[in-house]
Amino acid sequence: MPAPEESVVHGSKARPQDLPSVDKLLRLPALQPLLEAHGATLLTREARTLLDGLRQLAVAGVLDGAQVQADALAQALAARVGDRLAPRMRRVLNLTGTVIHTNLGRSVLPAAAVAHLARMMEGPNNLEYDLAGGGRGDRDTLVEGLLCEITGAEAATVVNNNAAAVLLAIAALAGGREVIVSRGELVEIGGAFRMPDVMASAGAKMVEVGTTNRTHLADYARAISANTALLMKVHTSNYAVQGFTSAVGEAELAALGRERGVPLATDLGSGALVDMAQWGLPKEPMPQEMLAAGCGVVTFSGDKLLGGPQAGLIVGERALVQRIRKFPMKRTLRLSKLPLAALEATLALYLQPERLTQDLPTLRWLARPLAEVEAVARALLEPLRAAVAPRYEVQLAALSSQIGSGSLPVERLPSSGLAIAPVLPGRRGTGTALDALAAALRSLPEPVLGRVADDRLLLDCRCLDTPEPVLAQLPALQEALA
Ligand SMILES: *Cc1c(COP(=O)(O)O)cnc(C)c1O
Repeated sequence: MPAPEESVVHGSKARPQDLPSVDKLLRLPALQPLLEAHGATLLTREARTLLDGLRQLAVAGVLDGAQVQADALAQALAARVGDRLAPRMRRVLNLTGTVIHTNLGRSVLPAAAVAHLARMMEGPNNLEYDLAGGGRGDRDTLVEGLLCEITGAEAATVVNNNAAAVLLAIAALAGGREVIVSRGELVEIGGAFRMPDVMASAGAKMVEVGTTNRTHLADYARAISANTALLMKVHTSNYAVQGFTSAVGEAELAALGRERGVPLATDLGSGALVDMAQWGLPKEPMPQEMLAAGCGVVTFSGDKLLGGPQAGLIVGERALVQRIRKFPMKRTLRLSKLPLAALEATLALYLQPERLTQDLPTLRWLARPLAEVEAVARALLEPLRAAVAPRYEVQLAALSSQIGSGSLPVERLPSSGLAIAPVLPGRRGTGTALDALAAALRSLPEPVLGRVADDRLLLDCRCLDTPEPVLAQLPALQEALA
């Protein structure tokens, strides 16, 4: 076979036999730097796939001669290798208006947590080693003190996520026995977490009381039997029952439980550790309030309003937490050292609550003054207009953000951003034009994600600290739209 570069005349179609072998391709001088950088294993595999693809095109008679030139082959292979090595998990810009966005990784970690996490993962650490005593330690103790200090709990333990915390708490405290829960609180969270199914998985028998809209203390009282192990309250975090409603508060229910010797467990879902109302945000129940009301254990997420890593936090009475910690299932649900490091650093921020709206991204964005959001939107307006013209028109828009992740579903935060609409003679083609724009924004090096509403693509600037990350990508956007 002739050398690839001599084999065909530019402009004609290449034949299968014009393609080099894998060996021959990898010996091309142009490929030596790539081979040196990445090694033969990756390059051989990618070269084989590349050549297989080109061979199919050549057999079909549609492979351009130019594509089998040495330089073109080297370039194609380099591109494949770059693609193969590029991580699938990528940073994106969340301009959807949903601050704690489940599909976008929920809470963004504070810088202190990222730094601590990186330092702890770079070497061995005392995950389960007691540095004072010189013996085996318990990983829970790394965060238990902080959790107790912040919530006022006697004891605390942590697991992989809040779904695991709920499952574990029910299994450990009520496995094989009955759990009483109101029909108004049989919550389904996204991703197949449904309270009745969780109870069943935990091996507990769910006893429903009351109705969808109204449940009374007497309903619980009547249902308590010798086989009742737990009373359960579930915060209806992702929906609201309004109108003729009645629910039993934790304090009342805990008192009943104490009288009858049955502990109360509360699943808060989000569980803000500070009063959100101080920043004009809707009130969200806090674990410390639940404990003060007499709950035996409270479960909540690490990556919703708390603003840390994915984790399930269990706080409560020492004896109950101890049973949960000792339950064998705990071992399968335990938190790994990665989120544990991030959790410790995130919780430590709560020791300085005055700084939270600076230090914790989730709270910074939720509490962000409207004028600041609007300033970012204004800075983007003209450059974005220029980048998408003449096919699209951009306006400054008053928007409303959501907290997200099932938190406070009915509440909206006044926000600001940009609304982009296709310039078309009629409405025909609007959907296609918006799809094209959204796809172009997603194709950027740091994909920009907005939302479509009322025939416009909306870019909510609440979670964009500065305009730069979007401004820097406008030339690429212009190119993608061309
Ligand atoms: C979000 C939520 C959960 C699940 O928490 P994860 O951390 O997502 O596992 C459980 N219960 C309630 C009420 C929730 O809102």
